Amino acid sequence: MRIGVVAVQGAFLEHEKMLKELGADCVEIRQKKDLEGIDGFIFPGGESTVQGKLLKELDLFDPIQKAIFNGMPVLATCAGLILLAEHLEQDSTTHLQTLPVTVKRNGYGRQLGSFKAYGTVDDMKNVPLVFIRAPYITEVKKEVKILSYYENRIVAVQYKNQIGLSFHPEMTKDTRIHEAFLKLVKSGKN
Ligand code: GLN
Repeated sequence: MRIGVVAVQGAFLEHEKMLKELGADCVEIRQKKDLEGIDGFIFPGGESTVQGKLLKELDLFDPIQKAIFNGMPVLATCAGLILLAEHLEQDSTTHLQTLPVTVKRNGYGRQLGSFKAYGTVDDMKNVPLVFIRAPYITEVKKEVKILSYYENRIVAVQYKNQIGLSFHPEMTKDTRIHEAFLKLVKSGKN
């Protein structure tokens, strides 16, 4: 399996490390030709405004959007979730708009920079949840599966081939979410 990690800005190295640990091949996506031959991709956390701008400047925006609409599996963490969101709360700077949810940026306030908690994600219990200036999801369309709530707020969803997370599994030692993503990629290949 070959996974593209969007590497224009942010915490992409941590994802690569985890993917390698799980035996997947990784390629850093920085230009259009890097998308050739991948089976799925990951959007890391970072700064969504900067990432969105760079995707356009590097001519990655349209091919990535097309690949997602065509069913390519994608795992998006934090800023990545913001990039995929169809709507942003009180914010008109939307990006790829492939995931039918509304996301609130910096949902926990700018003061509460980062914190760690534990929660259930789909059928996985006691998953470490690392939030860093994290967004959360305020609304989902009805076909979207909610995978996790933290304190009554939606922090993980799946819609067809897209998984969106408010938090950072790549910054923990728990590999279960990446394993679940690789399973999704594999199921698309069969
Ligand atoms: N607050 C950041 C943004 O709006 C996301 C933070 C993160 O990815 N850790 O882009």
